[in-house]
Amino acid sequence: MPTFYTGDIIQGTRVIRKLDVSDLEPGKKHRFFFQGVEMGTGQHWYVPVVVAKGIQEGKRILMTAGIHGDELSPVKAVQLIMEQLDPNQMSGTAIAVYDLSRPAREYMQRDWPSAEQGYSLINFNRVWPGNEKGDDAPTRHAGILWNHLFKNNVDVALDYHTSSTGGDFTMFIFADFRNPAIEQIARLFPSEQIKNDAGEEGSLEMEFVKAGIPAITIEIGGPRIFDRSKIPIAVEGSMNVLKHYQIIEGPINKTSEEAKTFFGDEFETIRSTTGGYLDLLVDLRDTVTPGQKIALQRNAFGDIVAEYEASVEGQVSAIARDALSEPGSRIMQILYNK
Ligand SMILES: [Zn+2]
Repeated sequence: MPTFYTGDIIQGTRVIRKLDVSDLEPGKKHRFFFQGVEMGTGQHWYVPVVVAKGIQEGKRILMTAGIHGDELSPVKAVQLIMEQLDPNQMSGTAIAVYDLSRPAREYMQRDWPSAEQGYSLINFNRVWPGNEKGDDAPTRHAGILWNHLFKNNVDVALDYHTSSTGGDFTMFIFADFRNPAIEQIARLFPSEQIKNDAGEEGSLEMEFVKAGIPAITIEIGGPRIFDRSKIPIAVEGSMNVLKHYQIIEGPINKTSEEAKTFFGDEFETIRSTTGGYLDLLVDLRDTVTPGQKIALQRNAFGDIVAEYEASVEGQVSAIARDALSEPGSRIMQILYNK
């Protein structure tokens, strides 16, 4: 099925509801609004798409920035990558998709707000590959994107994220090393940490991997901001991937090898056992050892009500930045080797 133009133009940009990169003019950057699922009022959510179509044939790489609404560094990273691409020097295609979870993005919140049952929040990275006849709008939106935007257009996929609001992350990559091509892609990033990880059911990464398309999830630090120190790492790694697949020419720059990336294959997740104010005793990337105190909690009177320690040797990957912690909340994740 060829690219289908609905005939609508929004703010000067053409609207499509089907993409086939093979019929786009080579040597050009194309921009579209992709027509997603309808809102309750009957209008659509539109997703911004940019396709840099190389003058020569080659691999097609997808970059997605905005599966979660409060994760903004991915937008900057993918914009910087696309800016550096000259389609007249490319063999292959780069597809950038922004703000996939549109209603979540508008309010800079993690999950998709659905009007079903009054109000519900749906994690848009647990609904892939979606279903065009699914039981809620985000599942249908994912199905529309999967079938009409991604399908038959993608050879390798990079999905960019950050931690959720209230937390923070290192420059981090999830990659399933059972597939050597995926391990190779991950190692091309001069990332702070990389986790060999089987993936999460319903995530975009896992659905691509199941479809035989190498994919990784890239976490660029914390939410809501442009992280000036971590974005360049994500950009450099992504450019290395484009060079690795010969979509662009040039030497591979800094990789995980030179960056002395810390690798692990398991998280120790430490959760609050009680309510209280949180004092963190370690920070991102700190090395911890078994028995080391990593955090404590106090009540409103200042009394210590809980103390937490690491039980493994590893590096701190993710932490709570919110200083108030409900019972069961995640305080910290420590990356280590099983
Ligand atoms: Zn995310």
